[in-house]
This record gives sequence, C-alpha cells and structure tokens, in this order.
Amino acid sequence: MELETAYKTPKTLLNKGTGFLNGYSHTLNPYTGCSYACSYCYVRQMPVSLFRAQEWGQWVDVKLEAAPLLRKELKRAKAKGPVTIFMSSSTDPYQPIEATACVTRGLLEVMVEEPPDFLLVQTRSPLVRRDIELLKALKDRVRVSMTVETDRDDIRKHFTPSAPPIQARIKTLELLKEAGVPAQAAIAPVLPSSEAFPELLRPLVNRVCIDDYYMGDGSGGKRTQKLPIKPLYDKLGLEDWYHPSAYERVYKRFSEVFPASQLWVSQKGFEP
Ligand code: SF4
Repeated sequence: MELETAYKTPKTLLNKGTGFLNGYSHTLNPYTGCSYACSYCYVRQMPVSLFRAQEWGQWVDVKLEAAPLLRKELKRAKAKGPVTIFMSSSTDPYQPIEATACVTRGLLEVMVEEPPDFLLVQTRSPLVRRDIELLKALKDRVRVSMTVETDRDDIRKHFTPSAPPIQARIKTLELLKEAGVPAQAAIAPVLPSSEAFPELLRPLVNRVCIDDYYMGDGSGGKRTQKLPIKPLYDKLGLEDWYHPSAYERVYKRFSEVFPASQLWVSQKGFEP
C-alpha cells in the first residue's frame, strides 16, 4: 500500500514530557505518523492513530516551518529552566522521507545554535548517520538511542518488515562510535534473539537498554495485548518469548558480557 504523505504547519512543537517520559521536560516529534509500521507499535492504540481513518504506518504528516518554530519555543523554554528533549515519542525522527524533507536535520541545526541541556534521539534508521556532524557539535548533550530489538534479521522481518535491516543499524552504531557521538543500543521491545547478540554489540556501545511490552508500552502490556502480536509468536513457534520472562533471559545473556553499570532496564535506560 502506498504511503500517504501530507504537509502541515504545526502550531506547537515542544510538548511536555509525561508518563514514561516524565524524566524529560519536553518531547519533540518532527513528523506525525510513522511509515515503519512496526506490528508492536503501541502508538497504534493512541489517539493520534485511533482518530485517523488510515491505518497506522500508512500515513506521514511532514511538519513544515518546524525549525523557526523550534527556535522560538526553545528560547522560551530555556528561559524557564532546564530543557531536556526526547525525540521522538510517537514517530521515528528519521522517516525515509527525512532524506529529502530534512525536518529533523533542521531541528538539529537549531539545537546546535541553541543547545538544550540534553537531547535523546530515538531512532531505528541508519539515516541518522547523515547528521553525525551536527550530533557531534552537541557533544555530551546528546545521546543517540538506536533500536536493535534483536540480532536476527529474519525475526525483524516478521515483526517490522518496513523498518531498516538490523545490519544497517549495527553499522550505524559503529559509525557513531567512530565519530564519538554518545549512543546506546535499545533492545526495545525485546524480540527473539540469538545467544551471540551481546557479543555483537559489545564492541559498539557501552550502554544497552532492555525493555519489553510489559514494562515499556505505558500500560503494563495492555496496549500491546490489543495488537495482533501473539499470533506472530505462535506462528513462529516462539510463544515463550511473548512473556515477561523473555527480557530476563536477554538481560542474563547481556550481563555475562556487559558490566551491570552498562545495562539499563526500561524507563531508566531512556532517561536523560
Ligand atoms: S518506528 Fe517507532 S513509532 Fe514508528 S511504527 Fe515503529 S515503534 Fe512505532
């Protein structure tokens, strides 16, 4: 199905960090909607998706005039106190269309000039590498959190067929490391992975955040239960991975390779 793209000029950009993201003063979404269409995406159950005629994953609104608006809002917010930004809470800031639309890039340019106290860039896209120079300029005020739910691309294809391949994300973590940009791997949500997963990430990051449907969907797993996720596990014969103990299994594997100080669980791993 073809992606429906619309262009809209927002009235506001910075929103208050609430719920799972209450450790942040603000959230920032360069787009509305998300073309990665992950099967497990909890945003499917939120008003932004429920009040829309098209199915989640089939539409993206590009925010126009975002950079000048952010400049204004950021100045105002900084005058009031510390500004910590989570980008993004209900989209991926590196949508495929970002390659030409450059909304996120424009926002980063503003943030280089007018730095927030902290910015977390949450993405699963290798396109973030295009902006490495801007991220470098933010020094230790930024962290890129790259979603790598599993090391198995065959599994990724079942759960998030429209998202970038795992190998491209791994390569991106490598480039971020080379550039000295603070980064973490977000195994979120935990998907079935191999025993070799920790060794794959070991040379690339010194921070790993592990989260699952039960801790991370903002409703104790209830939002996820409404999605047709379980049949996927059943079909693959991997039912035991659709369970709160799956994260413990992954955590245990990682704790054999990473020190405890580098392993984070759920909300704590995404905090500033
Ligand atoms: S990339 Fe994030 S926002 Fe987009 S569909 Fe996947 S989980 Fe949802």
